[in-house]
Amino acid sequence: MVASRSTPAAAAGGIACLPLPTPLPVGDVNAYLVDGDPLVLVDCGPAWVTTLVALEAALAAVGRAVEDVGLLVLTHHHPDHFGLAAEVVRRSGATVAAAASTVAPLADWEAWSRRADGLVCDGMVRHGVPTAVAEALRDAGPTTRQWASSVRVDRPLRDGDVLELGGRPHVVAERPGHSESDLLLVDHAARTAIGGDHLLAGISSNALVAPPLRASGTGRPRALLQYRRSLRATRALELDVVLPGHGPPVTGLRALIDERLAAQEHRARTFLGLLEDGPASAHDLAVARWGAVALRQPYATLSEVLGHLDLLVEDGRAVEDREGAIVRFARR
Ligand SMILES: [Zn+2]
Repeated sequence: MVASRSTPAAAAGGIACLPLPTPLPVGDVNAYLVDGDPLVLVDCGPAWVTTLVALEAALAAVGRAVEDVGLLVLTHHHPDHFGLAAEVVRRSGATVAAAASTVAPLADWEAWSRRADGLVCDGMVRHGVPTAVAEALRDAGPTTRQWASSVRVDRPLRDGDVLELGGRPHVVAERPGHSESDLLLVDHAARTAIGGDHLLAGISSNALVAPPLRASGTGRPRALLQYRRSLRATRALELDVVLPGHGPPVTGLRALIDERLAAQEHRARTFLGLLEDGPASAHDLAVARWGAVALRQPYATLSEVLGHLDLLVEDGRAVEDREGAIVRFARR
């Protein structure tokens, strides 16, 4: 039987999955409800009225309401996951727990995301995306910004912290990569974890090129390298199931992680092959690989290329030349 959208489905260890619709290309996002005192909601979907109506219906189906939520935990700072947080807090007075690195960005989402869009635009130009294309994407920023609003994080979480969810200790594990603020909430005794977008069953999570979350951070985070370290750390845990931010529960973790790591290696070799014709910018390689798609989706394709180039540079198979106006990569 397939649960309808508004009927929470038991996910694992007394945790119910609430799939919520979103206006974003990713489709539904999963929130999780952990019964107990306090009533815990993990993620809440974007600030979109259809999402809110679905959240209300899902909670009503188990005799609860938004007003009953006592603790709201956020897996990371992407709008499809935290967008409704301010509304949930306004109606429930819930405490908000999220990665310590998200405190400043979420306190003034509008200003922070506007600045981030500017930095991403500069970064795209530096890596060879035509200025007009990068600026058009930057100026489209408000369409994604609008799916979230500022919220105060009351409880900043750090690696190793323990959260009581439904009376069970969940250990916070920082897993940067998909985003810099990704958290895994691990119930070691039940061998389960709530995982946000760290690991999805159907699609490999993008390691996105993004500016550092902290104002003191410099340079661009090497997202794919971070992500690979995070995947290995998760592989070392004794886990049977990860409850993801999108799609069905993830099982067979070690095989899946090995598959993802190997696929990244394979893609890195493809980009190394494209460098045979001489030094190139990351965007040049995106165009060589995907043609016009690289111009329609410059951010996603550039993220994909840069991540794998970072892997080649780390392994000593390629070098990054940052001297000129546009960063170029070459075989070693
Ligand atoms: Zn997501």
